[in-house]
Amino acid sequence: MEKEKVVVVSSLRKGYNMDGLVVEALNGVDLEVIEGEFVAVSGPSGAGKTTFLNIIGGLDKPTSGKVSVFGHDLAKHDEGFLATFRCAYVGYVFQSYNLISTLTTLENVAFPMQLAKWSDERVEKRSEVLLNMVGLMDRSGHFPSQLSGGEMQRAAFARALATDPPLFLVDEPTGNLDLDTGLKIIRILEGLKGKKTIIVATHDRRILGLADRALAMLDGRIV
Ligand code: ADP
Ligand code: MG
Repeated sequence: MEKEKVVVVSSLRKGYNMDGLVVEALNGVDLEVIEGEFVAVSGPSGAGKTTFLNIIGGLDKPTSGKVSVFGHDLAKHDEGFLATFRCAYVGYVFQSYNLISTLTTLENVAFPMQLAKWSDERVEKRSEVLLNMVGLMDRSGHFPSQLSGGEMQRAAFARALATDPPLFLVDEPTGNLDLDTGLKIIRILEGLKGKKTIIVATHDRRILGLADRALAMLDGRIV
């Protein structure tokens, strides 16, 4: 059976309006990603990688072009739909982690499950599985400010995976980490390969090597 096309992007453009000037972040991107594929996107700073992930994840809208994710035409929908879409389909790991500073590691990880109205028992069980998976059981009561960069990143991974979303988007996961700390993140990605559809923006050769497909972006285009 042919695998589902999870992401279909064509002629995608995104311009940011800056004081009357338009910054063209995406300049006509075409891409199809099939179910279970692991795609890495590299490219210099400013190439458009984050913008691209944001649009696929329903966090931002294109200026023009098509973006269909799990059959939903994201350009056409309003913010209310996109919020529901993100909860159902997307695990997103931000480059700067974006953990909630007033919540502990455990509470950050539990948060998406509580939003999804899971029972306390189910949230507790799943949180434990996730914290074990990322090796943070002994940091569950720590606040983000009490964690190292690598630990914050692993907490962000656990949170993004909490409700087991089928699409996992990750923005430069090892960019701020030293080589050894990055290795733990790479092991987690390795464990997820084939189980989810994964798109990672990265310069890390180790992640590029892990991917089924490595693409390069430059000036808002895939080259
Ligand atoms: P990358 O992630 O590859 O570094 P980005 O997608 O962050 O690239 O940025 C692509 C281009 O869009 C850059 O020139 C950047 O300055 C611009 N840009 C990104 N976000 C915004 C924004 N919110 N407002 C204005 N310009 C932006
Ligand atoms: Mg970026």
